[in-house]
Amino acid sequence: MNKTVNPNVLRMTNIYAPTLKEDPSDADITSAKLLVRAGMIRKEAGGLYSFLPLGLRVLHKVENIVREEMDVTGAQEVLMPFLQRAELWKESGRWNDYGPELLRVTDRHDNEFCLSPTHEEIITDLVKNELRSYKDLPKNLYQIQIKFRDEIRPRFGLLRSREFMMKDAYSFNANAESVDETYDDMRAAYCRMFERMGMNYRIVEADPGQIGGHGTEEFMALAETGEAELVYCECGYAADVEVGECSPQAQAFPAEKMEKVATPGVHTIAELAEFLGCEEAATAKAFSGKDAEGNVWVLFVPGNYEVNECKAGRVVPGFQPLTDEDMEKSGLVKGSMGPVGLPEGVRVAADESLRSVERWVVGANDDGYHYVGAKLGEDFQVDAWGDICTVHVGDACPHCGKPLSGARGIEVAQIFKLGTKYSEQMNANYMAEDGTEQPFFMGCYGVGISRSMAAIVEQFNDEHGMCWPPAVAPAHVCVIPLTVGDEEVQPVAEKIAEELTDAGFEVVIDDRKERAGVKFADADLIGWPLQVVVGKRGLAEGTVEVKRRRTGEKVSVSLQSLAEARKFAREYGRPGKRVSEFVSQLF
Ligand code: ATP
Ligand code: MG
Repeated sequence: MNKTVNPNVLRMTNIYAPTLKEDPSDADITSAKLLVRAGMIRKEAGGLYSFLPLGLRVLHKVENIVREEMDVTGAQEVLMPFLQRAELWKESGRWNDYGPELLRVTDRHDNEFCLSPTHEEIITDLVKNELRSYKDLPKNLYQIQIKFRDEIRPRFGLLRSREFMMKDAYSFNANAESVDETYDDMRAAYCRMFERMGMNYRIVEADPGQIGGHGTEEFMALAETGEAELVYCECGYAADVEVGECSPQAQAFPAEKMEKVATPGVHTIAELAEFLGCEEAATAKAFSGKDAEGNVWVLFVPGNYEVNECKAGRVVPGFQPLTDEDMEKSGLVKGSMGPVGLPEGVRVAADESLRSVERWVVGANDDGYHYVGAKLGEDFQVDAWGDICTVHVGDACPHCGKPLSGARGIEVAQIFKLGTKYSEQMNANYMAEDGTEQPFFMGCYGVGISRSMAAIVEQFNDEHGMCWPPAVAPAHVCVIPLTVGDEEVQPVAEKIAEELTDAGFEVVIDDRKERAGVKFADADLIGWPLQVVVGKRGLAEGTVEVKRRRTGEKVSVSLQSLAEARKFAREYGRPGKRVSEFVSQLF
């Protein structure tokens, strides 16, 4: 290698980026296929990935954007152990509550530990003896670290892996108003992060899940391939369907008394409605599950809606759907469940919208039969009411009444107001201004770093490969000499690479002795935002070809104007400082 060459220029002959011609057979989503094919990541086992140099460069860029925006808010970076003592989790109650996603291990002295899925316990324990006075508050501490969750079905590459990179921040505040302020700061910082990453995202109301607390929002990268469904309205309302408010128009069935009707061959709500000559909304759909204590429940919603398992958990704590086997054991008749004549001990919950419906159409707990006109309060009782339906696109917005729109998304971040859940459980108090001991109010704020990287690929790709936004690209420009070693082409390409590097760009030169077609294909696959192609024919006219990866647009640029662009870059970009932002404008 030429010693005078700028060491900051990346060289394809040196980079370990084994690209593949074919999609890996076990990749189930575009981002996983492309990241593996481009030699950025490698699958080690289900939900476990290695990052190769180019992938790690992207990961670090995402990480640094997150770090910079966290630092702007005054949050301070820490690093906590990945292995956590079981005692802390027993103190918070989550050793039992967390379930099998928490991977538990025992050390050589028989002490129990877990691999960190999140860090509320350890940080609460850390600060409880250190932050003593209201004068020390608020404090917001964050880390960027590996998390481990033993996901039941790791899939979609980096989007749902078992080991993944997260930024998690925890704030300790004196009261709820102070948490509100930190929460708003975090929300604004997250908006800046995702904008800098070039992501299309939407903020939605969300479910607190395992973390608990009240008041939480998710940041959704919009993508058809996303696992999350969301609804939104032009008035600004947006929610994950797991929490989206829903007010179905349930209909009464016109009947004077309850009657058992034979409904042979009727299996679906649509068939039932047709058989009875009524709207689906005039029937009730049943769904079975059990609560945290193992009690069996049957839930009812209007026939044209579905039970939302997440929302059901708020009415029936710890709600889990029953398996077919469980249903049989509990004496439930699948496909014919109704509130009249359920087996002893089975409880009934129903959607709020059914409360005003006097007579229902329901299964008869007898295969091939339904009850028509079953009277609420007389023929059967309901033990619990609540909003348990999954909201539909087109339903009325709970804020303004206009029809809701729908989209799919990838949850890239979530922020929570935790209140005093962890501090009370773990006795983490501070001395208030009036001299009394008070529990901390807390907030926690997570960004999926590795998931964000994959979400960006889901948003920016085409049939040739990835199209990185410049701020997170493994490098900004790829200089491609068409004939390596050519005494005219090679020095010009090297010079362009060096000068662009001096101007503050991250530049890679494809100095491999490969055919032009191979280089173009790899450049498109890896997705460098800009390609500068240096060939003999262009040079004869004093030009090179510049291609914008995102649009595919190619322009012939004179070496003279390239020199001017470099000069401009030097003045504007001040090398090293937010060059990526500048670059995104130039590109
Ligand atoms: P999900 O609902 O997708 O399982 P979560 O709500 O359990 O995620 P949080 O506890 O809110 O996740 O964690 C913060 C962030 O960490 C998430 O917003 C997401 O970006 C990321 N994350 C969570 N689980 C995974 C995973 N299995 N793989 C990659 N990233 C993840
Ligand atoms: Mg979440």
